Amino acid sequence: MSPPSGGDDAGFEVLQVKYAERVTQKSVVLHDYASYGLPDGDLHMEYNFWVMRRPGEVILLDTGYDVAARDWLGEIGVKPTPEGLALLGIDPLDVTMVITSHFHYDHIGYLRLFDNAQVVSGKSEYDYWFAKWQNDDLEGEFTIAEHLEPVKRAEEEGRLRLISEETEVRPGVTVYPVGGHCPGELLTMVRSRSGLRILAADAAHFYEQIENEWPFFAHTDLDEMRGALSFINKLSRETGAVVVPGHDGRVRAKFPLMDGAAGEVATVLG
Ligand SMILES: [Zn+2]
Repeated sequence: MSPPSGGDDAGFEVLQVKYAERVTQKSVVLHDYASYGLPDGDLHMEYNFWVMRRPGEVILLDTGYDVAARDWLGEIGVKPTPEGLALLGIDPLDVTMVITSHFHYDHIGYLRLFDNAQVVSGKSEYDYWFAKWQNDDLEGEFTIAEHLEPVKRAEEEGRLRLISEETEVRPGVTVYPVGGHCPGELLTMVRSRSGLRILAADAAHFYEQIENEWPFFAHTDLDEMRGALSFINKLSRETGAVVVPGHDGRVRAKFPLMDGAAGEVATVLG
């Protein structure tokens, strides 16, 4: 296990971009929460994607939730990804790489907009979802064929890179397949302008999960998810990287908001 290299400059500007939020309960989203014998409580759940940029290079981790393709969460408002990117001055066609943490609807919506980007995905993720798609077995899952089509197109155009082991995909950006929540869940570590950051996405939705190594209710392999949580803590301990959970509203209180109108959605992680 090694952190990303020093890269060729001072590090990436790393931003978290929020596109939706809602309040849920610990007992709803944490696996077997009742067994801990603790009181229930609200969790402020946010939905995000992440931007890593430096001159000549814009990398996204995930691409948001395309509510027009299918409305999964009815009650909540969603800021479309193109609007969030516009606040940051990013044209989708200038995005050079998209890393997909996994293929759920709230992570790969709008992938179709990034025609010039190399797409980096877990090999096990690809194998799992494309087998389901091929077998017409996506009913009731957290994704739809329309979300997988841009992955297929990236493959046909030679823009898809499938990851099956720890890989530094760009100088300063390393991905680690951890599985658990989904078979090919990827963890991303980036060298930001102010130190290493682990962008956990759905390998860890909330801080409680990292602190206690508590699994999330939705997983394809429970043991693997526990393993992913302990891997996150080990990686953080050994490298000094700060861990950023994927769906925790408290991230926005721990890091500065971006200046100006972009602060409405963007938090500066480094
Ligand atoms: Zn998610």
